[in-house]
Amino acid sequence: LRGEFIEVMYGSYLYNLMKSLKKTFDPQAVFNKGKIVDTPLMNTYLRYEVGIESPDYKTYFDFSAQGGWLRAIEQCNGSGDCRKGIVFGGTMCPSFRATGEEKDVTRGRANILRELLTRPRSKKVFNQKEILEALDLCLSCKACKSECPSNVDMSRYKAEFLQHHFDSVLFPPFRTVMVANMAAVERFGSFFPKLYNFFATNHFTSSLIKEIVGFTQKRELPRIMENSVEKYIKQSKMPGKGKKVYLFLDEFTKYNDGATGIAFVKLMIALGYDVVVPEHFESGRAALSKGMIKCAREFARKNVGLLKDIVSSDAPLVGIEPSAILSFRDEYPDLVGEDLKVEALALAKNTFLYDEFIMREVDAGRISSESFTDKSLNIKLHGHCHQKAIVTTEFSRKMLSLPVNYKVEVLSTGCCGMAGSFGYEKEHYDLSMRIGEQSLFPAVRSAGDDVVIAAPGFSCRQQIKDGTGKIALHPVEILLRALKSWNIYCKN
Ligand code: SF4
Ligand code: SF4
Repeated sequence: LRGEFIEVMYGSYLYNLMKSLKKTFDPQAVFNKGKIVDTPLMNTYLRYEVGIESPDYKTYFDFSAQGGWLRAIEQCNGSGDCRKGIVFGGTMCPSFRATGEEKDVTRGRANILRELLTRPRSKKVFNQKEILEALDLCLSCKACKSECPSNVDMSRYKAEFLQHHFDSVLFPPFRTVMVANMAAVERFGSFFPKLYNFFATNHFTSSLIKEIVGFTQKRELPRIMENSVEKYIKQSKMPGKGKKVYLFLDEFTKYNDGATGIAFVKLMIALGYDVVVPEHFESGRAALSKGMIKCAREFARKNVGLLKDIVSSDAPLVGIEPSAILSFRDEYPDLVGEDLKVEALALAKNTFLYDEFIMREVDAGRISSESFTDKSLNIKLHGHCHQKAIVTTEFSRKMLSLPVNYKVEVLSTGCCGMAGSFGYEKEHYDLSMRIGEQSLFPAVRSAGDDVVIAAPGFSCRQQIKDGTGKIALHPVEILLRALKSWNIYCKN
């Protein structure tokens, strides 16, 4: 960039020597053409031309803090930190780490979006296949949101683009609609769980369903759990000491993993809290991950409307599935619209992931190590990508260290590769497993049989099972089993 000043700095004599040296060893200027000698003026290749206006797209997310969607995309300064390899730790960018292609890294995606949204090559701006291809392998892990020095939030830009794309076609793809509405399908299935599970597990019917939807045959479809968290709460006697927790019963815990939800309820009751599941809708996470923002916005608006007047600092909203509960903090305030933004921000302040809440209570002196065993246990913790990007795994590490002799190692394992439905999609399955194989699977396989693997993400636990055959536990299950009172009343 500053090559034009080399002659000024070194003088013509030295500069001409450099030129003749270059000509002698590289007469065709094959290597680094125009880098040191014969460089173009620094304003030769500017991104913007004078007098050309950038389009101003109307967006679903509120990008006003960044000056608009295009300005947000332009936050990428090209530093290339997103091209760092696994040895440097962190998560960004899992798709690039697997393919090594510039188009599959945050910077490549930002450049393609910026260029083709500023100077579209087609009248159908949101149908440009170069953009769709570049976004295809983005796992929406949000690692770039926290690890990129400019906080480029590709997950959000991808969702924004896809919704505009769906607006410009007759119908979104069938699989997209199915995944975005998975909770509705499972709600229906929960009325006939045995029948639903028969179709989901029978070799012939499940193969047919996977084929029709476009899922890989190499994974099992999630089953509907018959142990309902709500039913358990109804049967339970709450301590009634005035310490209330509103549990956000996300769609994964509600339909697929009731056991983990019940473990959280048991833990809270044992620690003296009343657990209430308030009326609410699903989080909209699945819709967001597929770019169905309009659908997700409806859920966000309904949830903010239902919860804004009951959730407070004394009675916070707590969730155990990171991707679902953290939507309240990350996406909702910029999604609900101006009329609910203040309420969404206030709600976000009193919304916590399970580990943040428990450590907040520890700091307030309401929970202590006294309640837990002094037996030893080694735990390896794989953090959820959204947890790492929006909160930190530090709260989970501290929470699992409440039993004084528990040793917790936070694994440097990046993204698991599942990312909701991504790892189920047949064209993405191989990449999903390759990402898991980069660091997570070897770390889990090398753990001894006496080591417990902890993973708060439902998808991460599924990926660990599919990739290594090992069972990972949600941290709240581990903490529940560490209660001194576990033997007395927690086994039922
Ligand atoms: S996306 Fe972020 S990390 Fe990657 S090049 Fe741009 S600014 Fe740097
Ligand atoms: S969201 Fe994840 S996969 Fe997508 S660009 Fe960012 S780091 Fe890469």
